[in-house]
Amino acid sequence: MRVKRQKKNRRTVRFFTVCFGFRQPFKVLCDGTFVHHLVSKEITPADAAVSELLGGPVKLFTTRCVLAELQKLGKDYSESLEAAQMLSTATCEHEEAKPADECLSEVLGIKNSEHFFLGTQDFEFRKKLQQGPNPLSCMKKKKVNDTKRPQSKSKAEHKAGGQEEKNGESGLKKRTRKRSKKGKSGQEITE
Ligand SMILES: [Zn+2]
Repeated sequence: MRVKRQKKNRRTVRFFTVCFGFRQPFKVLCDGTFVHHLVSKEITPADAAVSELLGGPVKLFTTRCVLAELQKLGKDYSESLEAAQMLSTATCEHEEAKPADECLSEVLGIKNSEHFFLGTQDFEFRKKLQQGPNPLSCMKKKKVNDTKRPQSKSKAEHKAGGQEEKNGESGLKKRTRKRSKKGKSGQEITE
């Protein structure tokens, strides 16, 4: 199971490198829910876990707005805040902190020209991206249940994996349609 999933993930990542110019180290933009998830499930080191998922070195980013949001959440999130503070900061233009999803949507932009993968546990946010014009829309559904693996990684993977596959899906769908006759490989990715 795991190997199969990993293959699928890698294939998705490959698609993004070939078709959209994503390059290693892969940049992963993390929101508070994602960081909190990693911290609370003790998925460490986080970059190694995400890296395994994507099949290459990664650099994890967050934004000042995400940090501000975590800070507002108080003591229960202090550990997550500390962890998030150790990530690189992707520049956003918000002098006054915006809600994290708005901030991250802007950082991604319509075209995701910075080639970010997005790490989030926020279902609504994912859904929003799926519905928008953003090419980062997702296929995370299947990932959500996908956890039979050793605790620590599974969650990160699922998270990041869901995300990244999400990213994959909209593009891949189109692509798969064109090549529907090739069947299996495309199919797997899409479904
Ligand atoms: Zn911001």
